[in-house]
Amino acid sequence: MLSKSEGDFMQSDSINVLAKWWLDSSYRVVLTGAGMSTESGLLDFRSPQGLWKGYDPKKIASIQALYANTKEFYEFYRKRLSCLSKAQPNKGHLVLAELQKKRLLNAIITQNIDSLHQKAGAGRVIELHGNLREAKCLSCGQKYPIEILEEKDIPLCKECNGYLKPEVILFGESLPHEALRHAEMETKRSHLFVVIGSSLEVSPANYFPLLARDVGAKLVIINMEPTLMDNQADLVIHAKAGKVLRKLQEIIDQGNSRN
Ligand code: NAD
Repeated sequence: MLSKSEGDFMQSDSINVLAKWWLDSSYRVVLTGAGMSTESGLLDFRSPQGLWKGYDPKKIASIQALYANTKEFYEFYRKRLSCLSKAQPNKGHLVLAELQKKRLLNAIITQNIDSLHQKAGAGRVIELHGNLREAKCLSCGQKYPIEILEEKDIPLCKECNGYLKPEVILFGESLPHEALRHAEMETKRSHLFVVIGSSLEVSPANYFPLLARDVGAKLVIINMEPTLMDNQADLVIHAKAGKVLRKLQEIIDQGNSRN
């Protein structure tokens, strides 16, 4: 068993390695998951205290649930919306946005629907699972700002009375083709691919780290708990994303100021 100071020392060693790879790489891509946003006060799905504790996700966040358990479906999304609207980007989001502005980060692929990368100032973000900014009528395709969910228990389209679906990808739906295509393109270009705060249990998002390895990129995983793909990675850091990214930024800034 490592003592705290031995553990901290090894962690800072690992972050030094990550910083070196970051500066040596010419194309860096990150894939973020729910763990990226827990430091903003948003629950993830699969941690012991995560959102799914006590819920069967397929009964509440699936396309079938929208039709069969309509009231519960909207209640769940109203609850999520109320948490999201209060959430602010954390230090980790800010570091990634800053690295992107300095052209030291080439692509952000996210499984998150919370828009916190954008709120932190990131430019283009590839959203694999959609977003909670808009809702769309399942019958006529009319789009509405997401706040329409708060108007009634069961909000309906003002044009045709169809059900409104938040623009998130629900269980049972396929992922947006354009986002997948972009994510694949960026992954294939990567020299360094860093997963941040994802259990990597959800596919097809968990296909990208393996694709990155196949094209010869270095794979790094930053996650509080072990993931299914730790044994595929060149470097694994089990720590809080915000802490690791803050330290990474410090080392990169020092490296740049010396050049
Ligand atoms: P997940 O819940 O399966 O895994 C999250 C992982 O992050 C866990 O392994 C946990 O140990 C780790 N983690 C938690 N806090 C962390 C921190 N501060 N630093 C580093 N690691 C931390 O989430 P996932 O892999 O993203 O899985 C899938 C689904 O979760 C996606 O479909 C996504 O849409 C959805 N989701 C999104 C949000 C959001 O938008 N913020 C929130 C919950 C779930």
